Amino acid sequence: MKAIQLREYGGRPEVVEIDDPTPGPGQILLKMTAAGLCHSDIGVMNWTKENFWGELPLTLGHECVGTVVDAGAGSRQLVTIGEDVLVYGPWGCGRCRQCAQGYENYCYNAKKLGIYPPGLGTPGGLAEYMLVDRARYLVPIGDLNPIKAAPLTDAGLTPYHAVMHSLPKLKAHSTAVVFGVGGLGHVAIQLLKHLTPSTVVAIDVSDRNLDLARKLGVDYALKSNQDAVDAVSDLTGGLGAEVVFDFVGIQATADLGAQMTRVRGDWNLVGIGGGVAKVGFGLLPYECQVFSPYWGTRSDLYDVVDLARKGVIDIHTETYALDDAPEAYRRLEAGEILGRGVIDPQLKGSALTS
Ligand code: NAD
Ligand code: ZN
Ligand code: ZN
Repeated sequence: MKAIQLREYGGRPEVVEIDDPTPGPGQILLKMTAAGLCHSDIGVMNWTKENFWGELPLTLGHECVGTVVDAGAGSRQLVTIGEDVLVYGPWGCGRCRQCAQGYENYCYNAKKLGIYPPGLGTPGGLAEYMLVDRARYLVPIGDLNPIKAAPLTDAGLTPYHAVMHSLPKLKAHSTAVVFGVGGLGHVAIQLLKHLTPSTVVAIDVSDRNLDLARKLGVDYALKSNQDAVDAVSDLTGGLGAEVVFDFVGIQATADLGAQMTRVRGDWNLVGIGGGVAKVGFGLLPYECQVFSPYWGTRSDLYDVVDLARKGVIDIHTETYALDDAPEAYRRLEAGEILGRGVIDPQLKGSALTS
């Protein structure tokens, strides 16, 4: 089958032919109908051998939707052949206290057992077929469009988890700041506008992405620079925002975010761009809480699918064929994709017109 693999540390993805997988005990085989491209994949491409999860070559793709076509012993009775499902990504041991609460994203044992998410350490969904290790990772999408549904597994799930974490602070008098109106950030805006009465401020470097933020109903759309700190100060009476969400996570946004959070505010650092929060007495407003969340729970994913069904979340997508994945990743890295790039493995050859 055709797959998109990272074959060298620090390399870039390649279109390759590999053997079709067959499901072992407990595994489910999906025929892929969509796989989203996440900025974390760019991070993975830059990982060295020492901090890599799993081994090369690695089939990328951790936002996956497919049709159940086969299942190994022990899982056949748990799945329905022909059903369209999305794949919960942060796999865990299923037995520790975190997993028992549905927090497989914070499994105590995953790392030491070598259990890695598909596309980030085990073979992912940027291929014609993929294997899923356990039936519990599959969530039916019903009549949702697979292309629109695939990013729900991360671009939807991760901001949902972060927004729900800070929900008690997002009242009518509150201000929420969103850095980065990309795959994750444009969903965060939709969640904030629909689930909270707070004032929403979007901050980005790209005018095109700020236009998308305006279309999604943000109250303010600001360029990412020191002037944005003054603007947030002005519109909060000098107090700063109750909650800052950083969906970029580089030092430049961390430095700005630190100046926008208020006393007893929340600062959610979701982006993994290497930005460091300087925490200590006098460095942040009193009792400001800093979070570095990772993905979300299985239960969150069910909520996210329900929100998509109700039209609360509508992912802005750009569709590419498998053959176009290297170019789509180049565009993602260059900041040229609006919303989420999604691969449609059913498209044959290249679907790019320019
Ligand atoms: P993306 O490329 O789709 O979006 C990034 C956005 O940030 C773009 O709109 C870009 O214009 C904007 N941006 C770039 N520089 C900026 C700056 N200086 N100030 C403001 N905005 C700026 O990326 P994505 O897929 O949405 O991922 C966002 C981040 O979240 C990445 O670092 C990704 O690796 C990370 N991520 C983390 C988790 C987690 O569980 N913690 C999950 C998924 C993704
Ligand atoms: Zn991701
Ligand atoms: Zn566990």
